[in-house]
Amino acid sequence: MSPNPTEAKIKVFTSPQELSEYLNQQRRFNRSIGFVPTMGALHQGHVSLVQKAESECELVVMSIFVNPAQFNQSSDYTNYPKTLEADLLLLEKTKCEAVFCPSIEVIYPQTSKTQFSFGEIETVFEGQFRPGHFAGVGLIVSKLFNIIGPCKAYFGEKDLQQLAVIKQMVYDLNFPVEVIPCPTIREISGLAQSSRNQRLNPKELEIATTIYKVLASAKTEILGFSNVELVIDKGIQVLSEAGFKVEYLSLVDALTFSPLNSIEGKSSDSRLIVAAWLGEVRLIDNIRVL
Ligand code: AMP
Repeated sequence: MSPNPTEAKIKVFTSPQELSEYLNQQRRFNRSIGFVPTMGALHQGHVSLVQKAESECELVVMSIFVNPAQFNQSSDYTNYPKTLEADLLLLEKTKCEAVFCPSIEVIYPQTSKTQFSFGEIETVFEGQFRPGHFAGVGLIVSKLFNIIGPCKAYFGEKDLQQLAVIKQMVYDLNFPVEVIPCPTIREISGLAQSSRNQRLNPKELEIATTIYKVLASAKTEILGFSNVELVIDKGIQVLSEAGFKVEYLSLVDALTFSPLNSIEGKSSDSRLIVAAWLGEVRLIDNIRVL
């Protein structure tokens, strides 16, 4: 266990062995472990995951690790906000008891040779625009599951495709963990909270609210049986005129990520998903339609 820069109560671990020892001790008291993996630069979205974990588990562990293996652009990795002291202060206000913040060398002492591949879902949307991203996510999440051994792990619906990939991985590899999806926390403006929002200036923050406005009005139109293709074209146009470079805006099945042209006859979860660049910052969001 390493010294905590905030001098606070929360236990900060940098060594997997020390964390495992601590958690094994806790398991002897039959404490169930809830796990919240993050890359730090914490906001209320992350806190909501901790709160959900607190309500269902006796001990909550968070990891804070900016995982180089899941960044397909080195500039995105370099510019990713790293705010450990502020993160620990925020966590002090929650019931999270332990934080795992390992170094890159501890997690990747050598280049990993095991490679994850998730089939079709990895070739579309986030997978298409961020090649290698989900392989990196699979690698770090499985390492963290093995180090921590949680009963339940909490993931945000904000990263909907990541959630689908993790569920698939847990199912395929029989990880003894239950994946709990958590709803997206938004600013009053509707903007989904994101660590990347810290990189937006005040003007861009205002423009960024267009994403939710487009999603919400597209949802209303689709529920009113407007032509999905036309609704999506209009949404892309509104975003482009606001200054975004849109990578995708699409209606999909939330489980398979197959594109949908209509909601007619659809009973399971369908979502509008979007990814767009505002200047140097890439934002993603989604909204449930049915
Ligand atoms: P990140 O630190 O961005 O990798 O996110 C860590 C976890 O927090 C992931 O499961 C995200 O889906 C989740 N998360 C990020 N933003 C939000 C949000 N606005 N609301 C709910 N969960 C979120």
